[in-house]
Amino acid sequence: MSYLISVMLQTPAHSGIGGALTYESEVAHAPGTLVRVPLGNRELLGVVWTAPPTSAEAASPTSMQLRAIASVLEGIAPLSAHWRQLVQFAASYYQRSVGEVALAALPSQLRDLSTEQWARRLKRKLKTVAAYEGAAPAIPTPTAEQARVLADIAAHKGPFLLFGNTGSGKTEVYLRAAQAVLESDAHAQILVMVPEINLTPQLEERFRARFAPQWGTDCLVSMHSSLTPAQRLKNWLAAHSGEARIVLGTRMAVFASMPGLQLIVIDEEHDPSYKQQEGARYSARDLAVYRGQLEGAKVILGSATPSLESWHHSRPASGAEPAGRYLRLAMPSRVGQGALPLVRRVDMNRQPYKTVFSNHLLDAMRERVTRGEQILVLLNRRGYAPVLHCHDCGWKSECPHCSAFRVFHKLDRTLRCHHCGFTQPVPRACPSCGNLDISPLGRGTEQLEEHLAELLADVRRPDGQPIRIARIDADSTRLKGELERQLAEVHAGAVDVLVGTQMIAKGHDFRRVTLVAALNPDGALFSSDFRAPERLFSLLMQAAGRAGRDATMRMVSPCEMWVQSFHPMHPLFEALKQHNYPAFAEQQLKEREQATLPPFSFQALVRAEARSQEAAQAFLNAARDAGAALADELLVDLYPAVPMTIQRVANIERAQMLIECTSRKALQHFLAHWQADLHAMRSAHRQVIRWAVDVDPLAI
Ligand code: ADP
Ligand code: ZN
Ligand code: ZN
Repeated sequence: MSYLISVMLQTPAHSGIGGALTYESEVAHAPGTLVRVPLGNRELLGVVWTAPPTSAEAASPTSMQLRAIASVLEGIAPLSAHWRQLVQFAASYYQRSVGEVALAALPSQLRDLSTEQWARRLKRKLKTVAAYEGAAPAIPTPTAEQARVLADIAAHKGPFLLFGNTGSGKTEVYLRAAQAVLESDAHAQILVMVPEINLTPQLEERFRARFAPQWGTDCLVSMHSSLTPAQRLKNWLAAHSGEARIVLGTRMAVFASMPGLQLIVIDEEHDPSYKQQEGARYSARDLAVYRGQLEGAKVILGSATPSLESWHHSRPASGAEPAGRYLRLAMPSRVGQGALPLVRRVDMNRQPYKTVFSNHLLDAMRERVTRGEQILVLLNRRGYAPVLHCHDCGWKSECPHCSAFRVFHKLDRTLRCHHCGFTQPVPRACPSCGNLDISPLGRGTEQLEEHLAELLADVRRPDGQPIRIARIDADSTRLKGELERQLAEVHAGAVDVLVGTQMIAKGHDFRRVTLVAALNPDGALFSSDFRAPERLFSLLMQAAGRAGRDATMRMVSPCEMWVQSFHPMHPLFEALKQHNYPAFAEQQLKEREQATLPPFSFQALVRAEARSQEAAQAFLNAARDAGAALADELLVDLYPAVPMTIQRVANIERAQMLIECTSRKALQHFLAHWQADLHAMRSAHRQVIRWAVDVDPLAI
């Protein structure tokens, strides 16, 4: 008797094959089994997806000539039903094929090793039991706040939003919660996610030091993109077999196969790195919450500056309004009474025109460097869409039709609204006061490092040496290992002033930093991207958390955060001064609610690339026409196509179209049906090179 087996494969994105193909087999392979199957003249890795028909009738040969499954990957238990459902959900939610998501979630070596190589790989002993070398660390007694939070986590189902200041002891809460789970069940597994690879070693070391003495060095494996294919396979197998009790990784780890999963921790849950920016553009944070619910695992989202989505989901009940579906747990105090830095604002309107460093700030920097303290200078050079600005009257390029700023497009010198598409040529002079000097906000930082070196040329370190300024950003760290090397220099005290983008604000434990300065944060206040203020606030709070980590340094010199701004009284800076995230969140959520922006609505973007802007937009606008009737019915808003902020990349023109709806369900329903229209339109739009849907986009 032969069975019909449906196998999920990675088929090319636009092949029109949804992912599953039917093969024939003498064996009724269980769903989740990894197999090799022929496709054309190649052999591909696939996952058996659904239970094959068991009766002989159902399995009777069809008219089609089916090909047979070539082989089974021996020695690997089938992937669980939960895992397959997670993949299926991710594919349908983010509008990709199931096969693509499934195969991308598996280590590449499963695909690349031949049957013989696989047999050899299996023979190698998976386990290399190594005794833990380090000494068992002293485990601190929980603070009262930690104890209360841990009791809540034990007593409730979650998901939990752990809202804790930097240094409030969140990591200690994760460790304790993990400990409880490990002890309660010999097969329990824990998934810990961090936003970026360069933050994994620190956390990994802390987890290993805590758990290896009891559960062995191999109790923890990591998963991130800088592992070699062989390491990745090894760690994946350890998680899949249940041998690794803890998996620590970046966003890709959300798809780790973990049969005993009982706890998921998402550290720095607000971090945009959790959103995948190519292929299936999934949010690992959102999938983790889904996965927790699916598998009955507790989920802890932790942050000092939660995403406004998570903050909103964790709102307490108020009046007739029920509470959100997350449980908010707060830890407001810093362990050891460490004070947060004093925030000082410099009003740049009172500085001479084109000042980069105000004199007050320079004086403070000189003084501290002379005493041997370190300084962080934070630049906000991230690719915010440029908004035009008048230096005289403060006019900015608002859209008259939206609560958004129009974006300056250099190429054709226009101002365009990325919401509604409203476009005008760039005005010759300020429309409000006639001033001719209007320019994009947030410029003038290119030569900043050199400029600062000149300004501080006469300053000496305590040892009489000239000071050293270093710069860390995407350009200076392009080479592998360069970031680590530069950070090590900062830690070693060889650098006095560190200039950098948001990379320097995250998580690093610089002991001698007592002053952090944000030079030009205003661009984000008036960005066309409504999430820019949220990112700025969290960046500044993070950066402030870098100062004064060391108690002895704090005694010598109270730490400070300086903000230079043309809008020092902006509510964002007011909230920053008070270290008051809830006040900031409340103000932002009010604005978002008024403008019906997320989390009060749901968005998707379709992006198209073509040789010409006209062709890209024509495709999108035709798609808009095709979807119009259904969109109307479902109350989904389809906006006209606009060029992307970075309109042309390598001579490819890029355009996008925004889709908005107050119901997530309706939006999903619309997208699912509209996909077919988009696929069908391709043949009529041959100039379109590619298109893709981004659900819950992070940048518009
Ligand atoms: P967060 O993750 O919120 O930034 P951490 O968990 O890293 O905070 O804690 C900050 C510092 O306080 C760390 O050095 C940690 O070892 C210490 N710490 C945390 N909890 C306690 C505690 N209960 N008793 C003493 N020290 C603690
Ligand atoms: Zn003006
Ligand atoms: Zn507009």
